[in-house]
Amino acid sequence: MQQHDEHWMRHALKLAQRAWDEGEVPVGAVLVQGDRVIGEGWNRPIGQHDPTAHAEIMALRQGGKILENYRLLDTTLYVTLEPCIMCAGAMVHSRITRLVYGASDEKTGAAGSLIDILGHPGMNHQIVLEGGLLAPECAGMLSDFFRQRREQKKALRKQLRDQEEE
Ligand SMILES: [Zn+2]
Repeated sequence: MQQHDEHWMRHALKLAQRAWDEGEVPVGAVLVQGDRVIGEGWNRPIGQHDPTAHAEIMALRQGGKILENYRLLDTTLYVTLEPCIMCAGAMVHSRITRLVYGASDEKTGAAGSLIDILGHPGMNHQIVLEGGLLAPECAGMLSDFFRQRREQKKALRKQLRDQEEE
């Protein structure tokens, strides 16, 4: 199972790279049923002008279309970052069986880091949860992205300053 999980998490990392290429925070998600991919998503709220366009939501929406069902039974969702409250809620609604995520998110994580939506004992659907798979790679991609963005902003500010001085 571990090997299988790693394979799909690496797939999710490739999707996260697509988000990066589009200038979005790099998070990727893949929804799998058996050995079949039924949904793929990467974070793209800025480009889509859509605050709900998170990687997980995109993957769940595609999965629903493929299964022609709003219940996504017997599926596993792989995502590179711990889901936020919105995505955790969508996972409960969708009835996915399992969630495997990579990096934890202290700021917005709803699988226990900020708040524990998925583990709430009153929740009407319990999702099997595994966090921390390939966490160094998943977290590393995010920190590289934010470092690059900070450097770009710094370079831009310097450029503007230099122009003013001319
Ligand atoms: Zn989310």
